[in-house]
Amino acid sequence: MPENNPATPFPAASLLGYPRIGRRRELKRAVEAYWAGKIDADALDAAAKDIQLSIARRLQDLGLTEAAAVPGTFSYYDQVLDATAHLGAVPARFGNLLDAEGQLDIDGYFTLARGTKDQQPLEMTKWFDTNYHYLVPEIGPATTFALASNRIVAEFEFALANGIETRPYIVGPVTYLLLSKASDDAPAGFAPLSRLEDILPVYTQLLEKLAAAGASWIQLDEPALVVDHDTPAAEIEAAVARSYEVLSGAARRPQILVSTPYGALDGQLGTLAATAIDALHIDAFKGAVPSAAALAALGDKTLVAGVVDGHNIWRNDLAASAAKLDELKAAAGRVTVSTSTSTQHVPHDVTEEGQLSDDLRSWLAFADQKAVEVKALASYLADPASARAAIDEASAAIAGRAAAAGVRREEVRTRTGSLTDADFSRSEYAVREAAQEKALHLPPLPTTTIGSFPQTSEIRSARARNNKGELTNAQYEQLMKDEIKRVVELQEELGYDVLVHGEPERNDMVQYFAENLDGFDVTVHGWVQSYGSRCTRPSILWGDVTRSAPITVKWAEYAQSLTGKPMKGMLTGPVTILAWSFVRDDQPLGETANQVGLALRDEIADLEAAGIKIIQVDEPALRELLPLRKAEQAAYLKWSVESFRLATAGAADATQIHTHLCYSEFGVIIDAIDGLDADVTSIEAARSRMEVVHDLESHGFGRGVGPGVYDIHSPRVPGEAEVTELLATAVKHVPSRQLWVNPDCGLKTRGYAETEESLRNLVKATKTIRAGL
Ligand code: GLN
Ligand code: ZN
Repeated sequence: MPENNPATPFPAASLLGYPRIGRRRELKRAVEAYWAGKIDADALDAAAKDIQLSIARRLQDLGLTEAAAVPGTFSYYDQVLDATAHLGAVPARFGNLLDAEGQLDIDGYFTLARGTKDQQPLEMTKWFDTNYHYLVPEIGPATTFALASNRIVAEFEFALANGIETRPYIVGPVTYLLLSKASDDAPAGFAPLSRLEDILPVYTQLLEKLAAAGASWIQLDEPALVVDHDTPAAEIEAAVARSYEVLSGAARRPQILVSTPYGALDGQLGTLAATAIDALHIDAFKGAVPSAAALAALGDKTLVAGVVDGHNIWRNDLAASAAKLDELKAAAGRVTVSTSTSTQHVPHDVTEEGQLSDDLRSWLAFADQKAVEVKALASYLADPASARAAIDEASAAIAGRAAAAGVRREEVRTRTGSLTDADFSRSEYAVREAAQEKALHLPPLPTTTIGSFPQTSEIRSARARNNKGELTNAQYEQLMKDEIKRVVELQEELGYDVLVHGEPERNDMVQYFAENLDGFDVTVHGWVQSYGSRCTRPSILWGDVTRSAPITVKWAEYAQSLTGKPMKGMLTGPVTILAWSFVRDDQPLGETANQVGLALRDEIADLEAAGIKIIQVDEPALRELLPLRKAEQAAYLKWSVESFRLATAGAADATQIHTHLCYSEFGVIIDAIDGLDADVTSIEAARSRMEVVHDLESHGFGRGVGPGVYDIHSPRVPGEAEVTELLATAVKHVPSRQLWVNPDCGLKTRGYAETEESLRNLVKATKTIRAGL
């Protein structure tokens, strides 16, 4: 029997994780200041400690006072990168980033995240079905593992020294390896999971250090167990069993909580129940309540019931959650209350959003409100009567929401209710292609960009001053027009074939539309981490959606008036608007998506009437909303594709519809992408070094396609030779008449100097390839 720290019970009320970017994005500011050389490592460390301590104190104030109730989920950049750092799993291509003591310091850590002049950063991909992105570990047969960071231990010690015992967090071994990709030097067929035995000793060592520091609990996060994998389930089961056999056998360790957010654990519940872990968290919001037999198998393990949604912002139906808890309690041993997922996906505090109506605010729960809900439900478990008032208040708010004005609009319902098949399809592609060729006269391999140009500090400050009333609307519009003119002139000078207006007037590609459509509200402080220091401020889609006036038309019309080249109209698609907003949970997503689709369809008709010949409808989030379980995917893909087609199918044959996706691991969605029936599809490909063209080729993708040749996620400028090489690969696999040349994504986060140089290299490389056709 290993020597454990005193058996502190798992806290009755806890959060699975908490936002770490700071209530006022303090971490973003500190990290970016550090990158810019404006503050040193000590100042960065001090800023991080401030955030950690204020989180811990805040959660204690909200009632999470038990030991280990406060999650140690702080991260400088990303929790998967944190695991990589602790495991010392630095890919060989970065050279030796470890110091003389074998530690990865903060600069080495950021190098993996941001790359160098010669090395691409680790690839980034979305974290389960969220809008958060993690850095993909690269594991090969030769990867060496050794505890190379003390950060998790140091953070625990720091909080403890300030009187708060937190619950350290790390991505668990099975999830870590299942989320890894084989490094470039690995032989074909190599599976990172085959390195399990080599990473377990490092986890064990970390557990021993945490125990020595006084931690009574550690949270090992295993969300990969709630999704389907290509790896056979039996192999995953064996890996789970082996991992927790080894970890629970550590000479000295904290008690182990395994958390499984983002869906139902299903079969793996039994696997975990059979191990010697001390507590198991299940997502009991999204996942169904497991069977009594499955729960009974947990024996004396604590069941941490994630009944409060960590991923959306609606107030919890406490009565429904209480009923679920009763059910769980009847079948399991000790039950405690938590969130379904980390609350890193929601903003901090709804009470800060004073501009929202009292009604709307009463329907919402951000991270702090969720802590209070969890606490109320824990008190329900201890003594049902003690939670009566909280439960009744929640029920009243939910009933008020259902009856509130704007939640249902009959004119919207009538329109979505009378759609026919014809509303979802355009003419044959061949017919459209001919009509578009006649209308556009584009050269082979047309060059274009994805939409946004750098959002300079002048643009941001103009918007801020306009919001504060320091600039009139007319003054603001003039400044935006000046910017559009500059961007158009630059593209003409660079020699681009299809121009964009640069999107200066948009604060965000979703929020901009949310602000201009009915049925949405926006927050002021509701920032949520998207990746690294990047945050988004999702809008709140609470009611039926309508468009009361054209949104983008005057900007597109102005931009087109400045040039003889085609100007792309630029819209955000229905799925992406849903994915990057907090969406109402009171009707099927497909219904909401069609409402947005109809609003966009009207906008497209107005753009065409204003003389715009090419219209791009961005759907970067199409894959993001894909359900994690294969059985649910077909239904999702059906409604999501339909909403895009509903938005675009009213366009004339001669109008060229583009779409843009930010990633290239298509997998199961390649049929759906094809099903969008866009005339041109631009995708990420530079970061993944053109791997995607093989998929396009084997799929027989028949319409226009622009695999990105400029990775816009870092300031690095792609050289002309590098772009030429990527394009040369592309023309080998995609017929040149289908091929477009463009960056991976929009340029809004880039600076002008690097953008200009990069865009110039794209044109030069295109000329070289065209000459060889
Ligand atoms: N049109 C958008 C832009 O260029 C697309 C951004 C995105 O796909 N994330 O900014
Ligand atoms: Zn993109």
